[in-house]
Amino acid sequence: MALLSGRFRDPRSTEYDFISSIIVRCPSCGKAARVVPAPEGSDPGGRILFRPRRLVCGGCGLSRVWTGRLVALSPGTAQPATDPYFGMPLWLQVETRHGWLWACNLEHLDLIRRFVRASLRERGPWYDTGQKMTLVACLPVWIKRARNRDEILRAVSRIHVSLVAT
Ligand SMILES: [Zn+2]
Repeated sequence: MALLSGRFRDPRSTEYDFISSIIVRCPSCGKAARVVPAPEGSDPGGRILFRPRRLVCGGCGLSRVWTGRLVALSPGTAQPATDPYFGMPLWLQVETRHGWLWACNLEHLDLIRRFVRASLRERGPWYDTGQKMTLVACLPVWIKRARNRDEILRAVSRIHVSLVAT
C-alpha cells in the first residue's frame, strides 16, 4: 500500500474553466458531441458563461445554437449531470455507490483523477479566504474521502474506457 503518487497542487480551476468545451450525448444519434462557444458570440465584454453556445456532433452533423440568459449548472451528484446550456447528458459520467462521478471534458476528468490519486493535497493560499471556490474545493465529500480512492479511480477508468470505445 505504498503507491503514493505525490503531491497534488490545486491549479485553481473552477467549474467555469471547464465549460468552454463540454462532451455530451448527441440528442440525435446518441454519440459523443461537443458544446462549445459559438463563433458569433465573441463579444469580449460579455461573461464567458453566458456567451452563445453551439452543440456540434461529428457523428451525424447535428448543429444547434444556444442563446439564452439562464445557465443551469448541475446540482450535486445525486443524479446524472447535464450540460448547462442544452440540458444534454454529459458523456463523461458513471454511477458509483456514492453518486454520479462526472466531468465536462477530459481535462476536467484528469484533474479529478490527479486529485483523488494524490496522497498529499495542498490547498492554495486563497482556499480559506472565501474569495474563490475552486473546483477541487467544491468536489463532494465522497470524492475526497481517502477510503473511496480506489473505487473512484476505477470509476474514472470506466469513463475513459467508454470514451475510447466510441
Ligand atoms: Zn449526432
